Formats: sequence, C-alpha cells, structure tokens
Amino acid sequence: MRAVAVLLATLSAVAALAAPDPLVPVSEAYVTTTPAYTYILDRGPVLTEEGEVDQEYINLIAQGPPSLLESGDLTPGHPYFGPVCDLPAIRAGEQVPLEEFLQRYADRRVAIAQYTDAARAAGCDRVIAYICMMTTGGDPEERTGFWAFWDNWEAFEQFDIPPRPDSDPVNWQQRRPDGEPVIAYRRDHPPYAPMFRWTNCINNPAWRAYQQWVTEEAARIGIDGFFVDNAGTHHCYCEHCRRGFEEWLKSRYTEAEIAELFAGDLSMAPDWGAGTDLRTAETLLFWRASIHRFLGDVRRWGSAIRGEASSPFFVFPNGLHSRPFHIATSFRDCDLAMDENSFGELGTHPGQITQHIVAGMYDQHVNDNILAYKYATGAGFPCRTNLLCRAGYPRADEAALGANRNVGSLGVAEASAFGGGGCYLHRGPRGGDWLIPVRERWNAFFDRCAPDLTGKQPWGQVAIFAPVAPSYFNDRSTYAGTDNTLRTLLERKILADLVLENTFSAERLARYEAVVVPYVPIMTDAQVQTLIDYARSGGTLILIGDSVASRDGLGRERDPADVQALQTAAAMRTPGSVHPALAEGGPLAHLPTGSRNAGSLVRMAAYVDDPEAPTELLLHMVNYEVRLGMAHDEVGVVKDLALTVPLPEGTVAADQAVLKRPDGEDVPVAVSNADGRARVTVPELTIYGYLRIPLQRGEGQ
Ligand SMILES: [Zn+2]
Repeated sequence: MRAVAVLLATLSAVAALAAPDPLVPVSEAYVTTTPAYTYILDRGPVLTEEGEVDQEYINLIAQGPPSLLESGDLTPGHPYFGPVCDLPAIRAGEQVPLEEFLQRYADRRVAIAQYTDAARAAGCDRVIAYICMMTTGGDPEERTGFWAFWDNWEAFEQFDIPPRPDSDPVNWQQRRPDGEPVIAYRRDHPPYAPMFRWTNCINNPAWRAYQQWVTEEAARIGIDGFFVDNAGTHHCYCEHCRRGFEEWLKSRYTEAEIAELFAGDLSMAPDWGAGTDLRTAETLLFWRASIHRFLGDVRRWGSAIRGEASSPFFVFPNGLHSRPFHIATSFRDCDLAMDENSFGELGTHPGQITQHIVAGMYDQHVNDNILAYKYATGAGFPCRTNLLCRAGYPRADEAALGANRNVGSLGVAEASAFGGGGCYLHRGPRGGDWLIPVRERWNAFFDRCAPDLTGKQPWGQVAIFAPVAPSYFNDRSTYAGTDNTLRTLLERKILADLVLENTFSAERLARYEAVVVPYVPIMTDAQVQTLIDYARSGGTLILIGDSVASRDGLGRERDPADVQALQTAAAMRTPGSVHPALAEGGPLAHLPTGSRNAGSLVRMAAYVDDPEAPTELLLHMVNYEVRLGMAHDEVGVVKDLALTVPLPEGTVAADQAVLKRPDGEDVPVAVSNADGRARVTVPELTIYGYLRIPLQRGEGQ
C-alpha cells in the first residue's frame, strides 16, 4: 500500500487542471551531444571457479577497455532465481543448506567488489550489471528458486534487507484484464525447468521493495549501474495498476473532461494492442510513466548508496526494439536505452551485404541504424541509443553477416554521427579480440575530440516532424513515414533531423528551410497552428499522405474544414512519399549537399555549437561501404568527395576546415564560400570522419 500511496502523491504533484497538450512529456532544456561510449556486453563468467577475480580476463579487458562494461551475472544473487538457488543442484536433486548460500552470497559480494575495482583500474569508466524489470524464476509448490529466498528473507538481514513484505511473490504478477497472470514467453520456459518463469508488476510494492534491495546491494559493492532488461514489457491490469490508472487520469483531466472524454469511466483500455482511442493511449502512457518512475527509482536507490561525490547510478534499460519512440517517454531520463535489433534475415549489423543470386547476378543490400539513433537527438532528452545487432536471428551467420573489425568500427561511427552519443555493442574480448584495436582507436579519438563532440545541437535543412504520441494510439503510419522520409533524404545527401514533441516549437522550426510531415494523423491544435505559422512566415511545409492532422491531439476526428488551413499553407502535399518534393523543380530539389552518386553510401549529419550564434559547424560523414561478415574485410574508400555545406544564416565559413578521423591524422581542408554554402572537398573518407568548419559572422557570398 505504501508504494501506491507514493505513486499517487507523485502523480498529484504534477497534476494538470486540463487535458495535457501534448499527451507525452516535454521539458524546457535540450540535452546536447556527448562523445559515444565504447561498450562491451559479456555474459560470460568474470570470476574463476574458486569465485575469485579472473585476472586473465581483466588483462584482456585492459586492452582496448570499453568505457562501459556490462559483465556476466554480477549481482550477488541470481537475477531471476535470487540468492538461495543453485539450478544445477536442483536439477541433480541435491540439497544445498541455507548456510552455504549465505556464505556464497557473502563471498560473491567481496569478489564482485574486487572485480569492479579491477575493471575500473583496467580502464573502464563504468562497470554495470544485469537485472530484469519483471522476471523471477521458481516453484511456489516445491519452494525452490525465488521462493527458497522468500522463505529465508530474514536470513539476509545482515545484508541490510528491509522487512519482508506481507504479500507472497505469487501475488506480484502482472495481470491480464480478466485477472489471470501474464507470463512472458511461457510458464514452463525451458531455461527455468524444473521451475517456472514469473512476470512481476513494477507497480507492486513488494516487488519494488525487493528491487530496491537488489539495487542498493549492487551499489554497496561498487557496481556503477544496471542494464534493466525487458523494460518495455509492462502491460498490467493488477489492482495496483488499475488504481494507479484512475489516479493518473484524475491528475491529467478535469472532472468535466473525464465525463466528456471517458464517459466518466476510469478503467483501463482492455485491448491495449489494438485500440486506437484516447483510453488506449492513456493506458499505454500510464504504463510508460510507471516504467519511467521505476527506472527513476532505480537511479535514486543506487545513487543514495553511492553518495553525492560519486556519479549517479547508471540506468540503461532494454526496450527500444522497433519502438525507438519510447526514448521520449519511459526512458527519457535514463543514460542509455537499448535497441535489441533482432529482425532481419540479413542481420542487423551496419554495413553492406552482397548476396549471390544466380550465376553472375548479385543483390546489394545496406543495413543501417540511423533512425534509432536519430530519435535520441530528435527527442532532446538525456537518454541516448545503444544498438545490439545480430548476424541474423534466431540463427546467426557470422561468416556472411557478422561484425568484423570494420563493421565494429562502423557501429561506433553511427552512434557518434547520428546518436549524439550512445553506443554500439561489442561482444566480450574472449569472443571478439579483433575488436580490441577498434576500441583502442575509438577511445583515443574520443579523448582527442571530446570538445568537438560535446554540447552540440543537430543542424539540418529539413525537419521531419516525428511526434511519438500517435504511436500510443497504435498508429504505425507516423513511425513508418518517418523512417521512409529520413532514409530518402539522407540518401540524397540532404541534412535532416527528427523533431519530436519535446523539440517542436516555432523557434526551433525556424532553423529549418523545410518541414516534412510524414502522415502524422494525430496532431494537437497548437501543433497545427505552429506548422501553419511556420509556412506563412516563409518556411517550406510538405505534407505526406491524406491523413495529416485528421485527428486532434486526443485522437478525435478533426473537422476537415479545420485541416484546410494547414493544407493551404503547405508548399506541397504528396500522397505517398517525399520523392516528389525532390524531383527537379520540387521544393527540396536545391537542398542536397553533394552529388547522389559521389560516395553513394555516405550518410551525413551536421551539428552546431550554438544555434542562435554558431561559431562552428561539424559535418559527420559515415561511409557504409563496409562489407559485412567475418569472412570479409573490405572497405570502400571515397576520394575527393565534393560537398556544398549549407551554413547557418548570417555566417560564412573560415578559409580552412579540418577533417578528423579515428583512423588517420587530422587533415586541413580548404573552404570557399558561395551562396550561403561552404564548398569543400573531402580528400579521403574510409568509414568515418567529421569536418570541423569554423564560422564567422557575415553574409554568404
Ligand atoms: Zn500491475
């Protein structure tokens, strides 16, 4: 009950008196870029069989140490089964006495503290551990797994465990609308046998009390933060969620609005996966807010133990996969969020695939992760994107689709260029030693270039309006249209940024020559008006699809007459894609920064230091001509790439720019000014580099 009361208090503190506009969170400040992380995730053991620090492993880590290291099962208790479980012993029908478990737990605490110290001494900035937001494993009949711990909760008093909650873990489950427990995957998931898998609710106070203790214990033994798995999987109708939802609605709508918009009914939407109405959106957003609150608590619980002199407890949830827009809701205040990108026969590592079809015929395909990264810079919240890629899933083809050293470098390049920070996962050094020199190079590059890569804001010519609210009405057209539009513009070498609710304002739109609205059926009145004003004051507005603004911010049908002004203001309306705007004579035809065919797989993103009074422009260039697969080692080199880089109004470029790359010396590049653009020729680009162009006040010649 206590935790529910806290939830209610938190919600009332932000109580609005009328329907929120927009429905999703916004904040004042824009969070600028940082250097990307180098990151290793290694689920292998990091302690020896005797339970001591594995010095050989530490020696491996010390070569090209990742700035962020996620290691093995680093919590002193098992992340699913808790600290009183020995799965092999259970499977062998053996008993382990409680004293033995307590001793193991105490020993592991000491060894893990030594391990995290050793890993930091080896050069890692942070060492983080795995938890799951929802999962336990155990058998309440046999009293094994998590229940063996539950029955012996008090034995952990010596480790500062709080008083045992009064509700048995069988009651902590997420519930379906009919009250039946939700079980992710299946109850008898084989890795848990002979025990079972359970899926707990983050709004359940007892589960939270346990998670708080796990977090505090991790912080006490020097773990710097958590990777929080399954942080998207919360669709719960338990009593705590139902009551929390009622309070959520009351905090966001007046009584009159609840009567009008919800017919006075405060219940959750029963079909969250299919509904397209406001109740569905609010149900999904309530769950997102619950996750946001839980992750914020994890940060707070861990940071309180670490003390103010230490960096805050690092929080890195999983759950962006095919839904990168969650970065603007549940994950917005985290450090990182993972896009566990498993889809695709062609794998998901960035790079080029050449497939043999029939004699003499090949099919070319290019993977990239630009969209997932762009949601972070578009949202403008603290959270950055991480990509976990695979060489096909569930079956991997490492030879054809795996991450060789060039792909390992291209992955980090994407995070640096498009993510404004973030990272791309490298596997551990035991299974990926070819990535060691890659990390060494990137670490040195980030050290050297940190000032250039810190504190910048995106600076493109085209803004793609990509609000996230429609996704919570189960509308996929905005997301799909955003993907398609971004892909097309970047292919044409047009600098394009996403603009989400949090970054959508008249002031920000004024920076862009054009705004493209890809579908976006759901739009608030204020957003419609801002777009109209933008167009009327000279901006180029392009609407894609017939559905734009057909519904208001609460998902209700909008009177077509009210959409008319927006349509009239638009420079172009196209039925399907942004292509017509790029055709000769089209409103975007003059925007490319280079020829489509020169460096045809180069994708770019630009940033400035201060959009109001810019003194430098950074043009990041990523060349995707990198062949995927462990059997290959080919990288294309682009020579003499001629570019005309659009400059912020009222500025001219200095005579000389500099090209910076992780794999080469800095190169001075001559710049000339013409028509408000800087003309430069990049002498040579392999995988990645950026041009730093100093700006001066003045009119373009
Ligand atoms: Zn619940």
